[in-house]
Amino acid sequence: MKCGKKGCRCEQEPIHPVTRLSRWENGKLINKLIRVADREGVRKLFNNYRKHKQAINEFVEINNKEKELLKNMIKLKTVKYE
Ligand SMILES: [Zn+2]
Repeated sequence: MKCGKKGCRCEQEPIHPVTRLSRWENGKLINKLIRVADREGVRKLFNNYRKHKQAINEFVEINNKEKELLKNMIKLKTVKYE
């Protein structure tokens, strides 16, 4: 990666290491370059994102189960006693 500083050695040869972060978006592969110094921070953010996403999925699942239970309860309540 070129840092853009005038007279930096990277104008001739690549000396600033970067990490490429790739993701798919609407069928297109999008690359984002991040500085190696930021890599750990980005990794932490990504892990947080993944954990949150998983928690949301679990929540949706629990919510759906609750809905089913409520439906069944309503059904049971509407059963008439003879
Ligand atoms: Zn440079």
